Amino acid sequence: MRHGHWIGGRAEEPANRSYLPTLDPATGLPGDEVAAGSAPDVDRAVAAAEGAWREWSRRSAADRSEALHRVADAMAAHADALIDLERACTGKVPAQLRLEVDMSVSYFRYYAGILRAHHGRTVDQGAGHHTYTRLEPYGVVAVITPWNLPLNQACRASAPALAAGNAVVAKPSELTSASTLMLARLATESGLLDGLLNVVTGTGLDVGTPLAVHPDVRRIAFTGSVVTGRHLATIAADRIVPATLELGGKSPLLVFADADLDRAVAAAVSAVTANAGQVCSATTRLLVEAPVHDEVVARVVEALELLKPGVDFGPMITEAQYRKVLDHFATAGAVPVTGGTAYDDLPGLYVRPTVYAGVDPRLRIAREEVFGPVLVTLPFTGEAEALALANDTEYGLVAAVWSGDIARALRLAERIEAGQIAVNGGALGIETPFGGFKQSGYGREKGIEALHEYARTKTVSLSLH
Ligand code: ADP
Repeated sequence: MRHGHWIGGRAEEPANRSYLPTLDPATGLPGDEVAAGSAPDVDRAVAAAEGAWREWSRRSAADRSEALHRVADAMAAHADALIDLERACTGKVPAQLRLEVDMSVSYFRYYAGILRAHHGRTVDQGAGHHTYTRLEPYGVVAVITPWNLPLNQACRASAPALAAGNAVVAKPSELTSASTLMLARLATESGLLDGLLNVVTGTGLDVGTPLAVHPDVRRIAFTGSVVTGRHLATIAADRIVPATLELGGKSPLLVFADADLDRAVAAAVSAVTANAGQVCSATTRLLVEAPVHDEVVARVVEALELLKPGVDFGPMITEAQYRKVLDHFATAGAVPVTGGTAYDDLPGLYVRPTVYAGVDPRLRIAREEVFGPVLVTLPFTGEAEALALANDTEYGLVAAVWSGDIARALRLAERIEAGQIAVNGGALGIETPFGGFKQSGYGREKGIEALHEYARTKTVSLSLH
């Protein structure tokens, strides 16, 4: 099947009439084709968005809330179709797909709800003045997303952007665009104003950059690599438009000897298996208190070796990522205690869950984000060393701390440089603001913070004299 863009409430052919192939990474077979967008397509989509957001932003909060609830309803009603599209180009396992689609629906429900409490305030300047603030949208927001959680990331940015009264032009990864296109179609079919949610597919150079530099794009929301984030931040700086950058991570998972080791081991295993490690917030540096290091590693390895590819974890989603992970194996400078190879007997892009135990923290495998099912482990002695190792990274997206001593865990939570800290498996759902410290980016997604990101504060002051 061929997918066009979604612009102004309908499917549109790409200006250059060309399409890009996709691949099913679980089978290695060719998949659907998506429009190979270019600057003229971006211009059309931005024009559609520019023509839509003012009317949308002038509607009552109740009205906008209803409209976004209807989008959520349409997504929920078509969850199986969204799952099929997502599976076809990512090869994800069923439980992962269900989780992501449910969460995608929830983004729309959550922001449909809280937008009704998103108000300005009055400001007291003394008698004789009446001063208030208004929270106004930016206008057209560019949402540029990668291939690891395609629908989820599109909804994570688009739902609050729309809720705050903006229009969106989404640019998904050209490898995984189908679910974002279906989201836009469902939104239109559920009654969302034409032009509010547009999708232009294609490569980063042909669509992403023209979108970011477009003079009518007033804000950029980006999820992806540090390299591309830096490129887009430079464009944003040049144009004086704000950007949200959700970039990479090499997040630590700290386990103290007094922790509930069963649960801590399960958390380490799921850091590897959830989306086969292709998650920016994966806690892939396992830091374990020395007396239990070998035991924890042995238990993690034992659990990983029982897992089945295609059942318990999916493939690498892109060929480039598959090659990158294998390159990490080839240049690791260490011998893994399990894994370290691909499944050559399978047709898809599957890589064995891999653990490098007791590594030198200076190794590339211990410092760079692998974005695959790969853990490194390091022993530590005492709280100070645990903290130093946890912060010994240019990234700062998330961290997990496991300890029976809650005061100690919270001391570490205060001092670890990361945007989200889970203590003893604490949940980090849609309500919790998410975003990086250091090179993991800036700006916050999720939570009420994301709604604030997409609104500009205007002050109006009236003299009563
Ligand atoms: P990954 O390495 O995970 O694919 P990227 O940062 O390359 O991450 O891609 C994330 C998103 O950014 C994708 O939609 C991609 O097409 C887009 N992108 C890549 N390069 C550029 C670029 N130079 N300008 C704008 N967007 C880009």
